[in-house]
Amino acid sequence: MKYLPLIAIVFSSMLFSQGNSSYWQQRADYTMQVSVDVNSYTYQGSQKIVYTNNSPDTLSRVYYHLYFNAFQPGSEMDLRLQNIEDPDGRMTIDGKSRIAQLKPDEIGYLKASSLTQDGVPLAFKPEETILTVTLATPVYPGEKTVLEMNFEGQVPVQIRRSGRNNSEGVALSMSQWYPKLAEYDFEGWHADPYIAREFHGVWGDYDVFLTLDKNYVVGGTGYLQNPDEVGHGYATGESGNKKSKAKTLTWHFKAPMVHDFMWAADPEYIHDTLEMENGPVLHFFYKNNPEILENWKNLQPKTAEAMAFYNANVGAYPYEQYSVIQGGDGGMEYGMSTLITGERSFGSLVGVMAHEMAHSWFQFVLASNESKHEWMDEGFTSFISSLCMNTIMNQNKDNPFENSYRSYYYLVNTGREQPLSTHADRYVFNTGYGISAYSKGSVFLAQLGYIIGQEALMKTLRRYYADYKFKHPTPNAILRSAEKVSGMELDWYLTDWTQTTNTIDYGITSVTDNNGKARVTMQRIGQMPMPIDVLVVLKDGSQKTYYAPLRMMRGEKENPYPSLYRTVVQDWPWAQQTYTLDLDVSVDDIDGVQIDPSGLMADINQENNSWFAE
Ligand SMILES: [Zn+2]
Repeated sequence: MKYLPLIAIVFSSMLFSQGNSSYWQQRADYTMQVSVDVNSYTYQGSQKIVYTNNSPDTLSRVYYHLYFNAFQPGSEMDLRLQNIEDPDGRMTIDGKSRIAQLKPDEIGYLKASSLTQDGVPLAFKPEETILTVTLATPVYPGEKTVLEMNFEGQVPVQIRRSGRNNSEGVALSMSQWYPKLAEYDFEGWHADPYIAREFHGVWGDYDVFLTLDKNYVVGGTGYLQNPDEVGHGYATGESGNKKSKAKTLTWHFKAPMVHDFMWAADPEYIHDTLEMENGPVLHFFYKNNPEILENWKNLQPKTAEAMAFYNANVGAYPYEQYSVIQGGDGGMEYGMSTLITGERSFGSLVGVMAHEMAHSWFQFVLASNESKHEWMDEGFTSFISSLCMNTIMNQNKDNPFENSYRSYYYLVNTGREQPLSTHADRYVFNTGYGISAYSKGSVFLAQLGYIIGQEALMKTLRRYYADYKFKHPTPNAILRSAEKVSGMELDWYLTDWTQTTNTIDYGITSVTDNNGKARVTMQRIGQMPMPIDVLVVLKDGSQKTYYAPLRMMRGEKENPYPSLYRTVVQDWPWAQQTYTLDLDVSVDDIDGVQIDPSGLMADINQENNSWFAE
């Protein structure tokens, strides 16, 4: 029996908006002056944060992240690397931790040398990647306070994401490089040590002055305020700094409403720009390496296509700039930018750009707490970037998410699955984290489309973005968006899929004759409930479908196969293990019967999903 092709997913650009009156969030506005010595890879900085306490609570402490301290022998990141059974290959040599082997002039560090609150010196206590600060004066609800710090740092040899001289020779990949206030929200403080992955931050405006060797080209978060002084591909006339006799150049960037500030610099960067119609200006920074030039030129129009795709299918990108920068390792998303390695095949280069750019909507603008809800970031990003790649690279797959489903089934079969609600750092295996966050998280949305219908799914995504952008949504947010769009009750789906490792397995037990008509008997074998679509293919070649909604979802999706006649049959109550479906055709006329012809229901055993005539 042939699978029906997935119905075309219908896109429209409707936007919804809705307030949420009890919601609050903190605010941290940064001004930083940083001076970098590109020869010693060290830097000195001063930072002023205007911190606004919008919470209903009086705060007597704050916490800062000092991420670079993770890149030191004996750090928690190093210990984790040494203890985990399947360490990240980028962070090891011959299976041994690269962090453990760093010499003093190769480690990363970030140290506060002084700290004041409204001019009053403060006591502070660094514990590796977290700085605990006891405030001199408590900050009452609705009040602001000014925190000023002097700090010094050393850029580590590139191990993970940040660092110097990465494998492709990019001099400085500067992510998570400055003292960064931890987030305080309705769940309390989130001063997570940097052990492996994932970030969470406070929204605010950034005003950053970077001083470094004038031959270095800088790209990253933020709009350059002094392009004519800087040049390097930013100035219109391109005279820029070349006239200046000074050895260094100060770059002044401003970034409104961001929760992070990344930059990268290299003396050999080529810097191209592409101005999108009605859209942001795209910037590209890549090494002058003849082997990659053609790919990096061809990447530019694809980046514009991806931006347009996400704008149409998720919502409007809210910044005026996006930069694709060669640097770091693999690919990682940041404010208005991404760092990706660039020595790749064209398909891989477009793929990593499409994935990292999609993070702008989920990791950056929605900005769920990635440590707690990694699947809402990596999973949703994987979902939409799979759809995007299917379109912009003309992949035309029936199921663009097939790799995510395959990985999820693989994980279930290993018996090592942990619930999606596991903290990102607390997975026993790296592969368990990866498949859970990326693949099972992507299947969450793809399968939601099976439950509520494809059109409702895409509307849900747009409504979710419109309602929760700049608001750190929690899992309940996507649930409520889907419920409001579909009119269904869906808490059972969120709970089973994200807080348990319950699996889906439905099967056809028999197709028999019942007074001249066919009777299909089906069974729920797995613990997780699902509505059921059944396709019946007749010997004359015609097809029809039957739909048994799940009773507890209190609703029905639209016919996913409008070209086929669909019969909506009685609800299937979850506790009832066996279901009888009476057809209006005789057994002799049937060629085959199949549960879920779309393949979007993540049924872990599909052997029992179909029945064929002898
Ligand atoms: Zn990602």
